[in-house]
Amino acid sequence: MKAVVLPDWGEELSVEQRAVPDPAPDEVRVEVRACGVTRTVENAIQGGLDDDPALVPRVPGHEFAGRVDAVGDAVTDLSVGDRVLAYFYLTCGQCDACRRGEANQCTDFGGWVGVNSEGAYAEYATLPAANALPVPDGLSYSGAAVAADGLATPLHICERTAVGDDDTVLVVGAAGRIGIHLSQLAAARGAHVLAADVRPDRLAHVDAVTGPAVETVDASGTDFAERLESATTHGDGPTVVVDTVGDVGTLRDAWDALAMGGQVVSLTTHHERSFAPELNEFVVKEASLLGSRYATKQQVVRAARLLADGRVDPVVTDEVGLDAVPSVHAAIRDGETHGMTVLDPSR
Ligand SMILES: [Zn+2]
Repeated sequence: MKAVVLPDWGEELSVEQRAVPDPAPDEVRVEVRACGVTRTVENAIQGGLDDDPALVPRVPGHEFAGRVDAVGDAVTDLSVGDRVLAYFYLTCGQCDACRRGEANQCTDFGGWVGVNSEGAYAEYATLPAANALPVPDGLSYSGAAVAADGLATPLHICERTAVGDDDTVLVVGAAGRIGIHLSQLAAARGAHVLAADVRPDRLAHVDAVTGPAVETVDASGTDFAERLESATTHGDGPTVVVDTVGDVGTLRDAWDALAMGGQVVSLTTHHERSFAPELNEFVVKEASLLGSRYATKQQVVRAARLLADGRVDPVVTDEVGLDAVPSVHAAIRDGETHGMTVLDPSR
């Protein structure tokens, strides 16, 4: 089969021929029909999740969906032909967090699909059966690839912060796949959404794919905090701020503009970036600063249903074949992408 291979952490991807993998007893083999080519994968390629030399060469790619093509001997709940999408985290299934349905907090964490196991930048991928979640009828494979992370992560954020119609939600980095689906989802839950990004072309894209409940805000320049106040009712500021970017200056502006009782959510996995407000600022505004870590399996399944039901539209900006994947990653590194590019290995 054809596969995109990372020879070593931080190196260029190459397109190679590999043997079709056989599933282990507890795995299924999936004929890959759609896989997101995303900034999260780029971070993994650069060694941002794990840079153990024993893990490379590696086929990256984790935001994928496809058709079950073979099942391991011990798999009883999946059959050839089932439509599945992948859960990103390799979890133990036995710890307290896994048992209570919070696999994203697994305490015997096994790593990430596409980092600690072979991923889906290929025609076929093996996956633990426990990571293969159902794709609802009516949802395309590319939509299911969006659900796997691009919408599941926003759903986890919205449920953690209980986003509803009293909220003004500021999304920092709104043009990326997480930002654009979060903007749509928060609006669908009744919130007023301020979608912030630093480039006019990216903001125009957000404007084109979201409804009237989403207002775009230019986050460039020095007066972002004032722009936020003027964009909120009575100048009260946003009640929920979600930082998808990790730019500390922008986060400081958003913190300064935060409404009383507001919540700030960080998704940044960059190392060596810190944000430390004075303790009294938490008290004066009764503010909360939260980290958000992917999503539970149930939330991935619910994200897929939200897309199947049309409550949120999957924003797929481009579909490419395997040969184009290295150049898409070059564009991601150059900041030249918005929305989500999806790989279809049959192209
Ligand atoms: Zn666990």
